[in-house]
Amino acid sequence: MLSICQTCVLSSQLNFVWRRSRPYAKLTLRAAIDQKAMTHVLGSKSLLDDQSFGGDLLNRSVGDRRDEGFVKASFEGSTSLLVTGRSVMAKQATYSNGGSGMPTELCWLAPEDLQEYGIEAQTDSQTTVTDQEAGALVPYLLGRTTKETWSFALDASAYGKQHHLHDVAKRKGYVMQDLRSMVAHLSGTDLAVAGHAIALAGWHQANGFCGRCGAPTVPIEAGAKRCCTKDKKHRLYPRTDPVAIMLVESVDGSKVLLGRAKTIRHASMLTCLSGFVEQVETIEEACRREVQEEAGIDVGPVHIAGSQPWPMGRGGTCELMIGCIAKATSDTLHMDESEMDDVRWVGRDQLKKAVEDSKRKDTPYQGGDSEPSEGVDFWIPPPTAIAHHLIKSWAERQTAWFSKL
Ligand SMILES: [Zn+2]
Repeated sequence: MLSICQTCVLSSQLNFVWRRSRPYAKLTLRAAIDQKAMTHVLGSKSLLDDQSFGGDLLNRSVGDRRDEGFVKASFEGSTSLLVTGRSVMAKQATYSNGGSGMPTELCWLAPEDLQEYGIEAQTDSQTTVTDQEAGALVPYLLGRTTKETWSFALDASAYGKQHHLHDVAKRKGYVMQDLRSMVAHLSGTDLAVAGHAIALAGWHQANGFCGRCGAPTVPIEAGAKRCCTKDKKHRLYPRTDPVAIMLVESVDGSKVLLGRAKTIRHASMLTCLSGFVEQVETIEEACRREVQEEAGIDVGPVHIAGSQPWPMGRGGTCELMIGCIAKATSDTLHMDESEMDDVRWVGRDQLKKAVEDSKRKDTPYQGGDSEPSEGVDFWIPPPTAIAHHLIKSWAERQTAWFSKL
């Protein structure tokens, strides 16, 4: 039998690729430039501020969730956050004049509160989606508080179909509120926990059946996974889709690349380019591919600057936005008109004004009708988005991110 050394095979394959295709060689060179640029860009301080949906204070490292009967034993004395779709139960803000406003705090219910609502959580059996549709409410563990209290997300979608959950909540001054509308109002920690709750409940809802054999699946380990009821070794894990989001600096370092995809609702919004990371692709490669596809610009060095969980992603999935800064190696734009409405290079003076504009309370994406500052014809995303922080980080610098290539 012929024995082949794996190292020799890899080495000969690499030589073949090198000889056959120059772009591969070029990428290797660019990777070397990356290291140099990283040293230039990175100081001791983080490039981006803390991100919305980060900073969950609940302890998720809870090995005991694997114990048989964990949910039943821990539910007593726990607190639950009710979830339906992308809405969670929150406390309505009330004013001294009797008016009410957007909730600023989540509403956690103890088992006795649930009883009062007539809500019974299924803590002692493996529940299929068919059971859920019949009214069973399943708790999914979110973590443990510093006071050693277990916290659960309780998917009340089925209950909501049979009862008027909004009416029930209203009696106590609570509301079921779409999380997206509360992003700017909740505290950072509440936002992170609520984001985890809707993402986890949404994933369970969407994965009720085995993708291999079609049998029902059931939650296990307090909702950390699901398993197929036919083949219990086949497990499903909560899904997070990686998205590369990048701010690309021009060759001369005086401008950055912004654009507006056709999917963006606000016609005057400009933001960083972005796209899903494909299978067997590095984040850096995804960044270069997306910029080339959407704007026709070649990208050299790419550096990962930070990340942001985004539980309200496209198609109802949970995304991880991976924020990158990158250096263009070409200038001429070729916009993909099927995907984009606008791509353009924007200078620092305009961006500084746009950053200040985005902090105002009357921006179009907050329902206002104000105009951008003089000399600016666009808005950038608000501080709740990582794109804002990438743009702000560059706008507030005196110099380019990267030294000239
Ligand atoms: Zn199966």
